[in-house]
Amino acid sequence: MTVERDGVAARAGAAFPRRILSGMRPTGRLHLGNYVGALENWVRLQEAGWSNFHMVADWHMLTTGHEDTSALQSDIHEMVVDWLAAGLDPKRCVLFVQSAVQEHAELHLLLSMLVSKARLERIPTLKEQIRDLHLDEATISYGHLGYSVLQAADILLYKASHVPVGEDQVPHVELTRELARRFNFLYCQDREPVFPEPEAQLTAFPRLRGLDGSRMSKSLGNTILLADSPEEIAAKVKQAYTDPKKIRANDPGRPDADPLDGHPGCVVYEYQRKFNPGGAADVAARCRAGTLACVPDKGHLSEVLAAALAPVRERRARWSADPSAVRDVIADGNRRARAVAEATMDEVRSAMGLKPRAALAR
Ligand code: SF4
Repeated sequence: MTVERDGVAARAGAAFPRRILSGMRPTGRLHLGNYVGALENWVRLQEAGWSNFHMVADWHMLTTGHEDTSALQSDIHEMVVDWLAAGLDPKRCVLFVQSAVQEHAELHLLLSMLVSKARLERIPTLKEQIRDLHLDEATISYGHLGYSVLQAADILLYKASHVPVGEDQVPHVELTRELARRFNFLYCQDREPVFPEPEAQLTAFPRLRGLDGSRMSKSLGNTILLADSPEEIAAKVKQAYTDPKKIRANDPGRPDADPLDGHPGCVVYEYQRKFNPGGAADVAARCRAGTLACVPDKGHLSEVLAAALAPVRERRARWSADPSAVRDVIADGNRRARAVAEATMDEVRSAMGLKPRAALAR
């Protein structure tokens, strides 16, 4: 059981810092969904004084996209620029690249001995990926099958007490807890546990849909990027899905979903609820009464989004103009991440009866 006390999660006699590990696959420039689903929360935790470790999950990227890596380095750079633009402060949190810390591979290997193939095959997100990417289950790679073990290694290496996730990622945190428990049980009978059992920290706002009402994805062309100008935002919002039955300006509209009619709800209203929480009820009431037309509502939303993203755009422009400063942030983050990871692996090796790193260097 976890006891929260003075910012420290105490568990089974061992104290671990209140720390999050959260990462993203490097997909280049980020969109509003990444901001609402993760970045905004990361910044909030940073401001609340948490110890934040944020990882560019480039090895994870290879589990489903190893054929063409030509854009990988520029995608990493652009994504970190967006992290900084969103308000992450590299002095208060650690921004690093997974492949720059070799200990992730070592711990992944060791943890992979503690889990069965059948357990990994039961993870629902793996099944969903196989379905969504139209993969043949019999041909998925050894690395893909084990990607949740790599995720567990990512989390445990930094002894994260919490992992911010959406509902779909909770089974991964559960596997991480199982592996931590198993490791501590097998190797820490006569010592303090090496690993905490991290808690899943559910993201508060449900995932934003894309402008067309489907899952938000750059490959579907339905996103607003953090880097978009006010003009680009306005042009994109004009295309947003609304209520198809609201044809004339004064027709009553349906801002919310109408499942009986297959209407998933107006996207403009969904974005209003997120970015204009004080005014969204009025938007909905006027829409239903037929006193608000879609064109002015979209125009208003564009202004709201442009204003909300203005500080992000401003910071983005500053970091984009100085690529070497971004490289320095990453190099410093890699160094700080490595220091923590090496210390954890010293404990892991000692607990497992493996030779310490210092002995291997000889
Ligand atoms: S008026 Fe606004 S909330 Fe109503 S359907 Fe049109 S865009 Fe959506």
